[in-house]
Amino acid sequence: MVEKIGFIGLGIMGEPMAANILKAGHALMVYNRTPEKTGILADKGALTASSPAELAAWADIIILMLTGPEATDAVLYSANGILSVNTAGKTLVNMSTVSPEYTTTIARCLTPGDITFIDAPVSGSKKPATDGTLIILAGGPRHAVSALEPLLLTMGRKVVYCGEAGQGSAMKMTVNLLLGVMIAGLAETVNLARRLHLDTDLVLDTILAGPLGCPIFNLKKDMLRQDDYPVQFPLKHMTKDLRFVLQTADAAGAAVPATHAAFQLYRQGVGLGNGDLDFAAVQKSLAALNDR
Ligand code: NAP
Repeated sequence: MVEKIGFIGLGIMGEPMAANILKAGHALMVYNRTPEKTGILADKGALTASSPAELAAWADIIILMLTGPEATDAVLYSANGILSVNTAGKTLVNMSTVSPEYTTTIARCLTPGDITFIDAPVSGSKKPATDGTLIILAGGPRHAVSALEPLLLTMGRKVVYCGEAGQGSAMKMTVNLLLGVMIAGLAETVNLARRLHLDTDLVLDTILAGPLGCPIFNLKKDMLRQDDYPVQFPLKHMTKDLRFVLQTADAAGAAVPATHAAFQLYRQGVGLGNGDLDFAAVQKSLAALNDR
């Protein structure tokens, strides 16, 4: 049987991920709250749905790539939502970044033996999404994740099995904790360097040439150099993710003081109006805190 794939959420990440599913030859239907965004995929051959319910009635596998819990609740539970139709035998895959607690709540709300639920958030931003090289962090029944692996590998280069539903989201918390703290650290380094009248290029090149050099710093170096932050991963989404990390760590009794500090900087970035810039714009939060 040829499986029919439904994809909901055609934002920065979802649009290229869905395009890769289509490119691999799958039958694809897409839905997006703002319908205009379905045009690119429709031109490439995807079917379009006018509601999550229409998509869920058609698809065997339903993939979500949405902002967070509020968006996920809207497409699952609204009058025209996924769960308004018969989902028996279908698989729901949430690739959005949400907290493990939210993921386990969804898993509990779904009828066991009816719909199979997998959480599969991703590590990697717009370019890996476009290149199909994301790292996919999957939680759910092991046999269901294994069965889904060929589909997931149309979007990524590796599927990491993390455990039961919720553990993919838990893994994502650990990854984004490090990502948020690392980029806040790099921005802080640049902030100090500027106050010391060091050449920013020289500082970044020195860091990248030594043991601290790494792909993510390399990816953000031009943004920091030019103080220009074209969005790949919006700062408002990093703020959301670190909020989930803090809630998750608190519930687990884990000390995460560096994350607390980083969160305040990203949060301030949203307040400064930088939420839609790339998250490397956390540099602007630091600049705003400097002595005049
Ligand atoms: P995005 O560009 O902001 O897209 C968000 C998507 O969610 C859009 O399709 C949006 O629809 C939809 N949405 C938001 N609120 C909704 C609602 N109430 N009802 C229905 N749909 C709603 O975000 P993104 O960067 O693609 O990120 C998607 C997810 O992946 C997030 O959880 C993010 O944290 C995670 N992530 C992002 C990156 C990255 O580098 N960007 C990397 C890894 C993981 P509209 O088009 O109508 O607004």
